Parts: sequence; C-alpha cells; structure tokens
Amino acid sequence: MASRFDGQLRWLHKVRLYPSCAQERSLISMLRVTRELYNALLQQRRDAWTTRHVSLAGREQYAQLTELREAEPRFEGVYRECEDAVLHRLDLAFAAFFRRLKRGETPGYPRFKVAARWNQLEFPHGDRALKLDVVQRSVRVPGVGSIRLRKGRAVPEFGRAFLVTKNGRWYAIFEAHRLPCALPVTGRSVGIDRGVRVLAALSDGTMIENLRAGSRRRAVVERHQRSLDTATVKDAIGRPLNRKDPARIAAVRRLARAKERAANARLDWLHKVSRTIVLRFDRIVLEALRLRSMTRSAKGTQEEPGARVRAKAGLNRALLDAAFGTLATLIREKAEYAARTVIEVDARYTSQTCAACGCVCKESRKGARFACVRCGHVADADVNAARVILLRAESPPMRAPGTARGGQHDAAWPRSRRWESIGGLTKSVGL
Ligand SMILES: [Zn+2]
Repeated sequence: MASRFDGQLRWLHKVRLYPSCAQERSLISMLRVTRELYNALLQQRRDAWTTRHVSLAGREQYAQLTELREAEPRFEGVYRECEDAVLHRLDLAFAAFFRRLKRGETPGYPRFKVAARWNQLEFPHGDRALKLDVVQRSVRVPGVGSIRLRKGRAVPEFGRAFLVTKNGRWYAIFEAHRLPCALPVTGRSVGIDRGVRVLAALSDGTMIENLRAGSRRRAVVERHQRSLDTATVKDAIGRPLNRKDPARIAAVRRLARAKERAANARLDWLHKVSRTIVLRFDRIVLEALRLRSMTRSAKGTQEEPGARVRAKAGLNRALLDAAFGTLATLIREKAEYAARTVIEVDARYTSQTCAACGCVCKESRKGARFACVRCGHVADADVNAARVILLRAESPPMRAPGTARGGQHDAAWPRSRRWESIGGLTKSVGL
C-alpha cells in the first residue's frame, strides 16, 4: 500500500473542509470505527502471540477483515480502503517496533490508540475514493457525501489522500507528484548562520529577524491559559477533576487554537523567508545539524534537574534550533524543486573564526561584534560566521559533514594552515 509517488518529489495540498453537521457526525463515526478496528487488530496480534506464540501477519488479518465486514455492519459502513490503510498503519507500527528491537534498542510495544490521538482517515488510492467536482468547490467522500471545500489553489492530480481533523476543524490533504522547475540562474552564493539575536544571518549582511509570533501572541495564549486554569478543578497532585466539564473543554479548545494560530504564523514566515533565499541564490550553504550539542544539553538537564535557569536556557536554545531547523528543511525542499544547490558544512568554531584572515581565536568574538585579534577585521558576529560558513563550502572540506568526532581539543582540527588560501577566495566570492 505504498504511495504511488514514492521516490518522487511529493507535494502535499492541504485544503480546509466545511462539512455540515451531519457530515461531521459521519466523519467522526468513521474515525471511531477505524480506531476500534486498529485496536481490535492490535489486540488480535497480542493474543495470538501470548496464547499461541503465533506472529500474525498483515495478510492474514487482511483476509479476516473481509469476514469482519460481513459480520459487523459498522465496519461495513466505512470505505474498505480506509480500513486497509488502518491495517497498513498497524503493520508500519510493528515494523518500526521490530526494526528497533533488532538494533538492540528497547522500543515500546505498539500501543492502543485513544480518541485524542486518532485524527485522520487515510485513502491510499485517494483519486479512486475522493471525487472533486469540476470547479473544485466540493469533494465527494464515500459514505459521507459531498463536502464543501475552501476555494483557493487548484488541487492537482493526486494519489493518496487524508481527511484530518485538528482543533475542531477538518482538512483534506492530497498527495501529488511535482516536477522540478529550475529557477533562473543568479550566479550568487550565500552562507547562512543561525543567529542568537536574529533567526538567521546571511553572508551578504542580511539579517532575518525572528517573527515574534510567539511573543506577539504570548499575551493571548497566556490569557487563555489563565482562563483554563480558572476553569480547572484539581486534586491534591494537580490532576484535573473536571475533564468532562463543557466550560473546561471550551477553554482547552480556545487555548489550543491560540497556540495553533501562533504556530501557523511562524510557519508562514519561515515559508516566505526560505522562498526569498531560494529565489536569490544558486548555492546555499548551511551549517550541519549540531546533534552533539543537542545531546549535551539533554544530559546537562538530567544531571542538574533542579537548575531551572539552565533548563529554561536549554529550552530557549531548543526552540531557536527548532525554528532554524524548520527554516533549513524548507530551504532544502524548495531548493530541490528549484534545482538549486544546498551544501552543509561543519559549523564548529564558525563564531570564532575570522572571515577575512581565517584566524581562529576565542578573543575575537565580543558579544554581537566580531573584531579579529590578528588582522583587525570588524563585522557583525553573526554575519562573520555566515561568511565563514560560505567559505567552508568553497574550500576543500575539513571533514565530511556528519562524521564529526572528538571534542574541543581535537588535535587534527582546526588547522590554521587550511585557511591560508582564504584571502583569494574572499576576493573570488566578492565578500
Ligand atoms: Zn582576521
């Protein structure tokens, strides 16, 4: 049941749906039935193993699904391929479980799904099941009827499709194939450094600010958080006692929507920024993911669980990295469609390296400014780092990205000799 577009550039079209009340009831009942099915199939596999030591495979359950549909009308009422997709999803969960087991890890056994964690219906052959009308104002869903769509971009020819619900709204997601479309050559390269004061700094001096989606909307989110706190009755250890209270449910939903809006604004901003970068530059140099520093921070919080300040600093860092990580992902995706080149380089010591002479010295970095102790080059610290990142892609790689080992005292690195040719390169890339 793999997607028709596996191995090709995928394009997900998300379109808002406006189901009527009756249609929403049918969709919710489809969610309930598919979830029950998932849990039943999981239970069956567990029982087969614990009582008979038999490992049930997907194809055996597939045959039983046909019998089940004949016996139970509620399973009959849901589109068959949706139920096949449920079985496939369970197969994936078990495949992941055994794969991790084989690697010597201790994965959790696939879990039963609760309603809060079951929010999508999959149509593996979407174009066979979901029919858009000619003007794309509605989509016909088997067993539900014609649901109104949001007007907007045209939905292309699609394969797999999903109907998803989030915070009380419904969306259709169509998976389509997309042909790469090369953008005009600009002849320009750029290095990008994640900033501390800004989201990212470009080697041409551009600073990309963090959209303060979080802080702008923080007041709203905090207000909703307070009203949720007021609406919640807690027991001695802080568990809410009135989960079913309609007022509390409404407060939970308002808070979730406020957070969703902030996240949407942030993602929208990252899409716009990445689009601009891909339009302007042919070669885009990014710093490789700093997995080492991420694990180090996790360890630090475990060793000092009480140090709230440090934990908070780590959290801020993680949030910053998440925004930058999303930006990098979007740049990579858009570059792939636009036939642009993305290069990743080792980012270590970029903040201490001079872009003009290549001298690596901790003392050169003075807060937001960079002033080289050897050649006197003065620049914004983040822009200097972005230029160093760009230069690392131009010069022979120190080491393939992702293979970095050793700590700060790695004897083989950094070698100032590597940087002797930088003067020439600096000129050739016009910095
Ligand atoms: Zn220098």
